[in-house]
Formats: sequence, structure tokens, C-alpha cells
Amino acid sequence: MTTTTIELKPSAHPLSDAEREAILANPGFGRHFTDHMVTIKWTEGRGWHDAELVPYAPLSLDPANMTLHYAQEIFEGLKAYRQPDGSVAVFRPEANAERFQRSAARLAMPELPVETFIAACDALVQQDKAWVPAHGGEASLYLRPFMIATEVGLGVKPANEYLFIVIASPAGAYFPGGVKPVSIWLSEDRVRAVPGGIGAAKTGGNYAASLLAQAEAAAHGCDQVAYLDALEHKWVEELGGMNLYFVYEDRIVTPELTGSLLAGITRDSLLKLAKDLGHQPQEGRVSIDDWRRDTENGTLKEVFACGTAAVITPVGRVKCASGEWTQSGGEPGEVTMRLRESLLAIQTGTAPDPHAWMHPL
Ligand code: PMP
Repeated sequence: MTTTTIELKPSAHPLSDAEREAILANPGFGRHFTDHMVTIKWTEGRGWHDAELVPYAPLSLDPANMTLHYAQEIFEGLKAYRQPDGSVAVFRPEANAERFQRSAARLAMPELPVETFIAACDALVQQDKAWVPAHGGEASLYLRPFMIATEVGLGVKPANEYLFIVIASPAGAYFPGGVKPVSIWLSEDRVRAVPGGIGAAKTGGNYAASLLAQAEAAAHGCDQVAYLDALEHKWVEELGGMNLYFVYEDRIVTPELTGSLLAGITRDSLLKLAKDLGHQPQEGRVSIDDWRRDTENGTLKEVFACGTAAVITPVGRVKCASGEWTQSGGEPGEVTMRLRESLLAIQTGTAPDPHAWMHPL
């Protein structure tokens, strides 16, 4: 299959302009979906076939569909932003396509060619361009490519057929009332991922594994969970859906990719952007004791989380079984906010894009 053979079968009944505008006035996150989706099938012996853009609609699945039982599933998340001239550009789709291939390999699924992943995203954004929020805020069109096994059967094995789908959902500004630091529950007993496991893959099982810890965080009055490594329960890895950065006086450290955390594309972008802005970003190890001690002795100035959904979120309060402390007086830090504004300026097209991260349609 060539990348350009996505057959267009658009909806005869898309939402009216008024209905769409009403949604775009207050989209929230992941609550509303655009008029279309792209689907591509994969069958053993035949490879990728039947790429089409069709009206957004429910799927019909056999109750013995393998995904429903054994979770052979992967997904991605990336955003399209309206540019100042009214055009639309997607942030680093190639990086998401490559991570999707790595997730597929780990879950014993077929790897979708990078060009096909990008062509599928482009076709959907092009068709549903009117759903990309206006330039001027932090709102965007969130793209959710994913792949499920479609073979029917209860034997545990890699499936012999799959379905790749891209859907899109308008996303409002993450902090409509201004950036607010999140509070973190540092979970010292529950782990998200283990060495040799699936933590570096973007697959539903990792998120299912995080839900109970997330509920415990809420019970402790915290917004998000930070996970430690599974062997020593000592090294800080990441949040349930975001990577972490530690801003010291003389350097900025993000936990290294040990194999059990997700290689965030925002994380990778910030390693480069922080350097452009004159900081010394590095990948390293930060223990729970370092985090607490260095905050208390004042050398650790700021901590922030980063990911596609919120771009950058300052960390305010940190709580664990043995205590509690506050980061940068509970206010968004200066370096955190400068990095946030710089990255958003590239994404929304109000600053130059020196790394060619924006993919115009
Ligand atoms: N870690 C996890 C577990 C995530 O789900 C995400 C969101 N994809 C991230 C980190 C951040 O990754 P990205 O910057 O690519 O969104």
C-alpha cells in the first residue's frame, strides 16, 4: 500500500457549523469527536490494506475479539494547532509515528510505516480542519491514533489481524484560568512498570495499572501520582501520563529512559529547547531522598511535569507516606513558565521553529 491511497468517504451528515462552534466554545478534553476517522486494516500475509477516511462511528466487535481479553492494543496522542495565518500544523507527528512503531514491536503487533501514520493524521485533520480551534489560545485538535487486534478467539497469541484508527477531539486550554501547579502523590508501594515490562510502550495496560494509584492519590488530596522504579523503590520515574523535570540552580535533570518509562515527545523537545535557552538539560537519576533534601536545602528550585495534554505543568505540593513538602512556594517557577511559553509559541506559530517540529498540512 502506498501512503497516499487513503480512500475518502466523507460523511453526508457532518455537524452543522453552529453545532461545531457550540462544542468549540467549551471543548474540555476528550469529550467530543470530529465528524470523521481514518481506518486501515492489517491482515497476516497481506499487510496493510483498505485505508479509508469514513464518518466517525461505533465499531462492531465480536465478544471474543482478542483485544477485549488480552489487551493487545497501543495508542498515541499528538496535537494540531491553528497557526496565525489560519493554516494548521501538527507537532512532531514523525516522533509519534516512530514511538508507535516501538510500541507495536513491544506488543508483537505489525509496525505501521511512518509515512502512513502521518498520511492518516493529515487526511483526518485536512477533512476536519474546521474542528481545529482558532489561533490565539492554547486550544488544539488532539489526535488519537490507535491500533487494536481484531482476530476473534480466546487463545493467547499475537493476533493475525489488526485495525489502525485515527480519531480527533478538540481540546480546550488545559489551564483556562491561568497555570496552576499540580500536587503529587509519591507512591512508594505501587509501581507502574517493571524492568523488561511494557512501561516504555504506549499501551492501555499501563494506564489500567495506574488507576488504583491515581484513586489513592485523590484520596490523599493529590492530583497526580509519581512512580518510583520497581526494583529499589527509590528512583523517580514519571507521572501516570507525564514526564518530570527537576530544575536545579546549575542544571535541569529529567529521569533517564531506563526502559520502564515512556519516552515523552514533550520531554525530548524540552531537552533541546532548554539548551537553546541557555540551560544545561541532562538525563539522569533523581531519588525520592534527593527530591526532598534538595527542595529543603534550596538547591532544587522548581519541578515540572510535561506531556502533550498540558504541555508543561508546574509541580506545587508533593506528598508521600513519610511526609510532605512544597516546590517553589507552591507557585509556578520562572524557568518552568519560560520553557512553557517558548514551547507553546513554537506550537502556535508565534515563534520561529528552529528544529522544524511543526508539520504543516
Ligand atoms: N508518560 C506517560 C506515561 C504518558 O502517557 C505520556 C503522554 N503521552 C507522557 C509521559 C508524555 O509523553 P508526550 O510528551 O509524548 O505526550
